[in-house]
Amino acid sequence: MKIKTAEIVMSAVKPEQYPEGDLPEIAMVGRSNVGKSSAINTLLGRKKLARVSSSPGKTRTINFYLINNAFYLVDLPGYGYAKTSKPERAAWGKMIETYLSTRENLQEVIQLVDIRHNPSQDDQLMYNWLKHFGYGSLVLATKLDKIKRSQYQKHIKNIREILEMPPESKVMALSALKKTGVEDAWEKMGSLVER
Ligand code: GDP
Repeated sequence: MKIKTAEIVMSAVKPEQYPEGDLPEIAMVGRSNVGKSSAINTLLGRKKLARVSSSPGKTRTINFYLINNAFYLVDLPGYGYAKTSKPERAAWGKMIETYLSTRENLQEVIQLVDIRHNPSQDDQLMYNWLKHFGYGSLVLATKLDKIKRSQYQKHIKNIREILEMPPESKVMALSALKKTGVEDAWEKMGSLVER
């Protein structure tokens, strides 16, 4: 897919603020610092559309990026930041649950995990949640440049096993640093929003 236009149209905290209309959406979610902002910027070929956070855990809004006037890429706030207070965590949970359970435009939610590490307990909880809502057919492994090529299959296998991914689900891998994996990701993601 060629990205012709990409613009942020809304930072929402409640459903009334979600964009109107029936354009399809693909959302992305992951532990804070997993590389989600970098991945979004890389996928969209933009340097600073999504803010690469100097203070992790600060993005507490659902950000809607309108792509090619055809669909939205939706940036969900990250989880698992150690300094987040209990009330903040509860607010995050409510905001995400509301979005996942009510948003009719939503086609798929892509979970991001760091390719170097076994998915954390929070990652597992999140992925189970996604499966519960009927999502999770795609997982995006970030920071691909941080592992040796020879270790790739082993890491992907670990991610699949620990998240208990269904056989038909797919793992993609991306390096925001080297800009690798972009075409493959759009090949898989594009089919979700084509009409
Ligand atoms: P977010 O909190 O999930 O949005 O994560 P960020 O995009 O802000 O990235 C967190 C940190 O990981 C930053 O220091 C990034 O420079 C770094 N990072 C993100 N993606 C990559 C990648 O593909 N390769 C490498 N080497 N570092 C990355």
